[in-house]
Amino acid sequence: MQDARKAQTTKSARTPRGERAPTSDAAAPASPAASVRRSPSAARRRRADAAESEIAGIRITSARRVIDADSGTRKLELVRYYERAARWILPHLRARPVSLVRAPRGLSGEMFFQRHSGRVPLPGLTEHEGLDPGHPALLTIDTQRALVSAAQMDVIELHTWNASVDDIERPDRVVFDLDPDPALGWDRMIEAAQRTRALLAELGLESFCKTSGGKGLHIVVPLAPEAGWDDAKAFARAAAQHLASVWPTQITATMGPEHRKKKIFVDYLRNARGASTAVAYGVRARPGMGVSVPIGWDELEATTGGAHWTLATIDARLAQIEHADPWAAYGRVRQTVTAELTIGLETGGK
Ligand code: ATP
Ligand code: MN
Repeated sequence: MQDARKAQTTKSARTPRGERAPTSDAAAPASPAASVRRSPSAARRRRADAAESEIAGIRITSARRVIDADSGTRKLELVRYYERAARWILPHLRARPVSLVRAPRGLSGEMFFQRHSGRVPLPGLTEHEGLDPGHPALLTIDTQRALVSAAQMDVIELHTWNASVDDIERPDRVVFDLDPDPALGWDRMIEAAQRTRALLAELGLESFCKTSGGKGLHIVVPLAPEAGWDDAKAFARAAAQHLASVWPTQITATMGPEHRKKKIFVDYLRNARGASTAVAYGVRARPGMGVSVPIGWDELEATTGGAHWTLATIDARLAQIEHADPWAAYGRVRQTVTAELTIGLETGGK
C-alpha cells in the first residue's frame, strides 16, 4: 500500500536549526532588583509576546523557528496560515481520518508520518477508536482550534482518507493522482488531466482538479457514499488503465519510474481503504512550501506546476476564491460508481 512508504529522513547536519529564543527573552533581567526595576516594560513585552503566540486559544511555542530555510518560513507563519485558511480547509478535513506529516525540526530535520493517535495526545483532535482494526484510534481535525493545535504540534501536511468516520466503509470520493516524469513539460500534465476529466465526463462523472502543492495534480471525483472500497478502487483502476490503453505513449497506470519514462503516471492506488491524499488548501513539507489549491478546469492551462501556489502567494489566491470558488459545486454533486461502469471500462478499453 502507498501509505507504507517510508518516512522521509532528510537530516542535515549543516543546516542550522533556526530556533532561537525571542530577542526580548535575551534581555531578561539578571537580578531580582533589576527585575523589580524593569518589570513594567518587561511585563508589557511578555504580554505582547503571549498575545502574539496565542492563536485560536492555543499557545504557540518556538513561534520564530524557521521551518523552511528555502523560503525563510517560520512556524508562526504556518500556524497563522492554518488559522486563516481554516474556513476553506475544514470542509475537506472534517470527519475524515487524517494522516499527519510532522516536522519537529522543520524541513531539514526528520519528518514523521502519523496515521493514528500516539502516546502524546494531540490537543483538540478527535480520536476514533476501532475504525482501523489492530491500530490505535484514527484522528480527525474538526475545528479551527484542532487545526491550529496540529500546527503547534509541528504538523505541516494533512492527508485525508476518501471516507468519513460516519460511513467508513463507503468512500465518498475517488482520487486520481497525476505524477509526471520530471523530464516532461507541464503542458503534457495539463493534457493528461484534461483527458482524465474527459473520460470521467463520458462516464457521467463530474470531477474537480487541484494542484498537489508538490509536482503534480490531483483529480477528485465526489461520490455519494454507496459503493464499498473494493468497488471504488476497481473503478479507479479501470479508469486509469483505460487512459493508459488509449494514450499509451503519454499515460501509464503502472507504478515505478521505469514505466513512467516520458509519461504521466495516473495513480489510482490512493483509493484503497486507509490510503490518503494531501488535503485541499494544505501546505506541503517541501522546500518553498507549496500549497495544494483547488482550481477550475478553465484555469488549468494557466498553471505552471504542482507548486504553482506557495505559502508566499496563497493569500491572493484565497482572495480570488472568495469571489469565485472553483469547487463551489463540489458539495452539490450526487454521483456514484457501479460495477457495470467498471466492467464497461475493462471491456471497452482494449
Ligand atoms: P506530488 O504531486 O509531488 O506527487 P503528492 O501529494 O501527490 O505530491 P506524495 O506527497 O508523494 O504525493 O504522497 C504520496 C502518498 O503517500 C500520499 O497518499 C500520502 O498520503 C502518502 N505518504 C506521504 N508521505 C508518506 C510517508 N512518509 N509515509 C507513508 N505514506 C506517505
Ligand atoms: Mn502525486
